[in-house]
Amino acid sequence: MHDRALQALQEYFGYDAFRLHQSDVIDRTMAGKSSLVIMPTGGGKSLCYQLPAVLLDGLTIVVSPLIALMQDQVAALQASGIAAEALNSACEPGEEAQIRQGVEQGRLKLLYVSPERAVSPGFLSWIAHQKVAQVAIDEAHCVSVWGNDFRPEYTRLNALIERFPGIPVAALTATADSATRHDILQQLALPDCEVFLSSFERKNIQVDVLPAQNRIRVMLRFLESHSRECGIVYCLSRKSTEQVAEKLRQAGYAARHYHAAMGSEERKAVQDSFQRDEVQIICATIAFGMGIDKPNIRWIVHYNLPKNIESYYQEIGRAGRDGDPAEALLFAGYGDMRTLAQFIDDGDSHPDFKALQHAKLSRMWEYTQATSCRTKFILGYFGEHRERNCGHCDHCLNPPRSFDGTVIAQKALSACYWLQQQVGANMLIDVLRGSSSREVISRGFDQIKTYGAGQDIDWKSWRHYITQLIDRGYLAIDYTRHNAIILTELSRPVLKGEVSVQLCEPQEVDFKAKQLNTPAIEDYDTALFTKLKELRREISEQDDVKPFTIFSDASLKDMARIKPGTVSALMDVSGVGSYKRDKYGAAFLACIRDNVPEAERSLGSGKVVKETTPRVVDDFAIAGVSDTHLETLQLFGQGLSVAEIAAQRGLTAQTIARHLYRLKLNGEAVDLDPLISPEQISYIQGLWKALDKPARIKPVYDEADEAVDYEQIRYAVSLLRKQAEPTCAE
Ligand code: ADP
Ligand code: ZN
Repeated sequence: MHDRALQALQEYFGYDAFRLHQSDVIDRTMAGKSSLVIMPTGGGKSLCYQLPAVLLDGLTIVVSPLIALMQDQVAALQASGIAAEALNSACEPGEEAQIRQGVEQGRLKLLYVSPERAVSPGFLSWIAHQKVAQVAIDEAHCVSVWGNDFRPEYTRLNALIERFPGIPVAALTATADSATRHDILQQLALPDCEVFLSSFERKNIQVDVLPAQNRIRVMLRFLESHSRECGIVYCLSRKSTEQVAEKLRQAGYAARHYHAAMGSEERKAVQDSFQRDEVQIICATIAFGMGIDKPNIRWIVHYNLPKNIESYYQEIGRAGRDGDPAEALLFAGYGDMRTLAQFIDDGDSHPDFKALQHAKLSRMWEYTQATSCRTKFILGYFGEHRERNCGHCDHCLNPPRSFDGTVIAQKALSACYWLQQQVGANMLIDVLRGSSSREVISRGFDQIKTYGAGQDIDWKSWRHYITQLIDRGYLAIDYTRHNAIILTELSRPVLKGEVSVQLCEPQEVDFKAKQLNTPAIEDYDTALFTKLKELRREISEQDDVKPFTIFSDASLKDMARIKPGTVSALMDVSGVGSYKRDKYGAAFLACIRDNVPEAERSLGSGKVVKETTPRVVDDFAIAGVSDTHLETLQLFGQGLSVAEIAAQRGLTAQTIARHLYRLKLNGEAVDLDPLISPEQISYIQGLWKALDKPARIKPVYDEADEAVDYEQIRYAVSLLRKQAEPTCAE
C-alpha cells in the first residue's frame, strides 16, 4: 500500500516524502477507517484526503464551507491532472448537470460541495446511488458551537455519512482547543475514529512585536527585506486601511485596501488581483482573509492590536502556507487597547461574554509585553505546553537584556505621585525629562519634586520603561480618566525601597540582520527565481489561472536551487509531478537554459521517468477576459490614462496595458492609439514573419529595436494570427 501512495505522491503532487501524520491518516483511509486530523494552517491537511481520493475506486465527497476556497482547491487539483469539480450556489444549472454526469460515469475523483448542498434532500437521494469511496469534512470545527464559525448544516452531516456505512471519513480542522475537538467527535459520531493532533507551532513564521510608534516608517524599513513579496497589513478601521495603502503606494508599492464597506464586486477584484500577484500588498480589516488560500504570502503586519490571540494567530497563520520562511510584525499600542476595550463595552452582548472578551484582550496585551519566548506564550494559550524556546521569535533571536531598574522605577512612581496621578504617560515623561513646554510650565509641573529627575534617559527609552512598569503592575492606566497613569498596591514597596525592579533595555530592531535562520533562505539563485516567477506569471495570464496553481514559490525556489537541465532533473524539483512536467516542463527548462550556463545545470538523479511530448507553449494564444480586465475597461472608458488607472488600482502600468490589449483582442472597443502605433504593429508583424513565426515573445524581443516592448509584441502578433486564422482564435 505504502509504495502505491508514495508513487502517487510523486506523480500527482511532485513530493518525495510525507509530512508528519499524512501517511498514517492515508493508511487508515485506505484501510476503510476514519480519522480526525488537527493540523495548523499549512500543515498539509488537504493531501490527507486528496491522495486517497486518487487511489480509491470511487468518488471522494469533500464538504467545504467557503466557495472561494473550494474553487482554489479544485483549480489546483485540475492543474495537477486530477478530475475534481465543485457543486455550490455559484454553479450554472447546465454546469451542474455536467458535473453530475461526470460523477455518474465515474469520471470524477473529487466532488466539493457546500454543507447546505451536502444535506439537501435532492443531493442526498442522488448521491446515495453513486459509488462513494470517502467523505472528507474540511473545516470540521464548524460543527461545534464552541468554534467561531459555527454552521448549523454541519451538525446535520450525519445524514450524508449514514448513507455510506463503512466508508472512511476524514474530518480536518486547524482549530485546536479540546472542547471543540470533543464536540466534533461527538457530533459526527464516527465509529473507531483516531485523532491526529499536530503541534501548532508554525516554525517558518518569525514573529516580531514593536511599540506602535512611527509605524509607517518602521513598516517601510521592514518592507525593505520583503520588497517584492506579497503581504497583508491588518488595520482596525476602514479609514486606516485606505490611508496606509495610500502611504505604501507613495513609497512605490502596489498596495490596495480592502474592507467590508466596499461593494462585493470591488472586493472580489482586489482579492483576485492579489491572488494573481498583480497587487503586492493588501491593507485590510479582518474582513479580509476568510477564503484566502494564497500559499506565498510572505509577511503579515498588524498595524493595530488584534482583539485576541485566536484572531492574531489565525491572521499570521495566513503567511507561509507553502512552508517557506515568513515574517509577522505586530505593532502594540495603548491607544488600540483602549479602542478595543471600548468596542467591547459598546457592544450589546451579555455581561459575562463582555468579561470574557476583556480577559482575552488583556491576554493579547500581555503577549505584546512578554519578555520571554513568544511562541511558548501562544502555544501555552492554546493548551500546548513545552519547555524549550522556539528560536524564531524576536525574543529568542535577540534576547532582551535585563538590569536593576529600581532607581528608574522609583523616579517614575514618584513623579506619578507628585503629579497626583492626573496625567498620561506622555506628560509624565515630559516632566521626568524636565521639559519646558508651555503646558508643563503653565500647569506648574516644573515646581514638583521630581521635575527633570530623569533627564539622562531619552524619551523613547522612558516610554519603554513606563510600558514595562505598567506591564508588571507597578503602575496602571485609568481608562476612565483620559488614560491617566496611576499608582497601584505594588507601588509603595518600590517607593520605600523594599523591593527591587528588573527592567529590560529597549532594543533597536535591525530587520535585515534578524532573519530566520533557515537553510531555505538564500541557497538558491535569486536572479533565476525572479525569471521563473516572471515566466509563471506569463503562463498564468495566458491560461487564466492563478500563478500558484502552476507551481508554488517553494517549487520555483527549489528549481532555482537545482537548476535542472533535463526532464529527469526537473523531476527532482519538489512539486513537479508528471502531469505538470508534461504541461509546463518545456517552458521552464527553456527559461533555465536561457539563464544558466550549461555547466551549472543539473542532469538529475537518474530517476526513471517516462518521456512524453511536452506541451508547446504559445505566447500568442488569446486568453479570455475576467473581472479584473473589465474593471480596467470601465476606468479606461471614463477617460483615465493607463498611468492613472495603474495608480488608482495599485497595479503596474504594464499590467494595465496588458489588460487593454487583451480586451481589444477579445473584441472590446478599446482605443489603443495611446499604446501602440500602426507603424509599430506592422514593424513587429514583419519581424515575426522574418524570424519564422516563433511561438515565444522573447526571440522577437531580442531582435527588435528598443522602440517596442513585450506587450506590444504580444499584441501585434496575436492580432496578426487572429486575422489570419479567425476560426482558430479562442
Ligand atoms: P492546510 O490545508 O493544512 O492549510 P495545505 O494542504 O494547503 O495545508 O498544504 C500546505 C502546503 O504544503 C501546500 O503548498 C501543499 O502542496 C504543501 N504540502 C502538503 N504536503 C506536502 C508534502 N508531503 N511535501 C511537501 N509539501 C507538501
Ligand atoms: Zn521564541
